[in-house]
Amino acid sequence: MSLLKVVDVHKSFGNTKVLNGVSLQVDKSEIVVIMGPSGAGKSTLLRIMNYLVKPDEGYILFKGEKLSDDMRVLRQIRSQIGFVFQHFNLFRHLTVVQNVMLGLLRVKKLSKSEAYDLAMNCLEMVGLSDKARSYPSQLSGGQKQRVAIARALAMKPDLILFDEPTSALDPTLVNEVHQVMKKLAADGHTMVVVTHEIGFARNVATRIVYMENGVIIEEGNPVDFFTCPHTTNVRDFLSSVY
Ligand code: ADP
Ligand code: MG
Repeated sequence: MSLLKVVDVHKSFGNTKVLNGVSLQVDKSEIVVIMGPSGAGKSTLLRIMNYLVKPDEGYILFKGEKLSDDMRVLRQIRSQIGFVFQHFNLFRHLTVVQNVMLGLLRVKKLSKSEAYDLAMNCLEMVGLSDKARSYPSQLSGGQKQRVAIARALAMKPDLILFDEPTSALDPTLVNEVHQVMKKLAADGHTMVVVTHEIGFARNVATRIVYMENGVIIEEGNPVDFFTCPHTTNVRDFLSSVY
């Protein structure tokens, strides 16, 4: 059984059709990279995966369970799905370790000392235990994104969604975030990553999904995708981002 299954999803905002029949499944330990031009519907698809956006038609299964408005089920499912955003979304009035502890206290209901220990382990994992008492404003963009990854990781998610995690970063800071993501992949985490970073996609993805105008145009393993794309859409896209 796949971990996540998106089945024939359609979504419009007003008169704009943003997703036009998208189906996708993600198995355990897969690293699925979603690529495509701006406006293709990538962020919407990612948000639909944990029901931050509701589909107009179609449905989503997580471990075989259908996502719906039933808040009890939804909360339970969302606690198993991590989300890492382009703009980090850290709380500026909380220290680094407090940011990582928050979900553990509020959602997982851990005690303060359990939450602290787990948060420190996760900060260690992303190489930032020495910044535990700093505030987000004292960190570089790359460090902030590593904190956001530690925060997602602390919840022990079965799936982590990344929406352009490095596109707000100075190019010199991209690599440190990719290194952490690579480590998660090697540890067997299941990840869906929207990114324009070809190097990361080539080296880390187990599958590439290419979208345009709300539909999946091409899907395949990275070697085929980058060396012999089947569609002119992908060829044009690749020549525009290389
Ligand atoms: P991508 O991430 O591939 O750039 P998005 O999923 O963000 O694409 O957006 C696809 C289209 O949907 C864009 O035209 C965008 O303006 C529109 N859109 C996305 N979210 C909303 C929203 N909440 N309300 C209205 N339009 C939206
Ligand atoms: Mg986007």
